[in-house]
Amino acid sequence: MNIVPTLDERRAYIYCPTCASVGNPEVELTRDTYQFRCMFGHSWDYGTLQKMIENGQVVHMIKSQVIERPSDHAKPYQVYMAPGTWEKINLRYSGRLHVTLGTAMDALADESIIFIDGPDVKELKLLGIKSGKDILSALKAARELEQQIQVLQKQVDMLAPILRAAGLQPTG
Ligand SMILES: [Zn+2]
Repeated sequence: MNIVPTLDERRAYIYCPTCASVGNPEVELTRDTYQFRCMFGHSWDYGTLQKMIENGQVVHMIKSQVIERPSDHAKPYQVYMAPGTWEKINLRYSGRLHVTLGTAMDALADESIIFIDGPDVKELKLLGIKSGKDILSALKAARELEQQIQVLQKQVDMLAPILRAAGLQPTG
């Protein structure tokens, strides 16, 4: 459940293009009815800025931060982990932390997850396997090959009496 905070009417969520052009790219414009102003006195009207955005000229929108809330039926639990791990997870899954952790925990609980550790992972990556999909397709290819071998073996078995009659012995 993601929540985008309500927009502050006085903020423009746009950086000042004049300041940006002189190497000061992060000066936010504030809104004053139809005028936008920066702290250094540059002033822009809405129409001009709108046109600049449409033309792809440098007008950076300031991204509003997404605040994630855990789902209503979820309860908090205390878990232990190595120092630094929590910070790394927070950084990596910013804005979708609760949903990611929830999914991982659900998977752990219902045995729908397979753990592959250190050296095995390296070997798998060297074989070009990076995901569950890759593993599945490798296994399917191996199974297909096995079936092809069985078909060929049957053909050899069928030919065996003929080859024997001709004085030839099939090997294998
Ligand atoms: Zn400015």
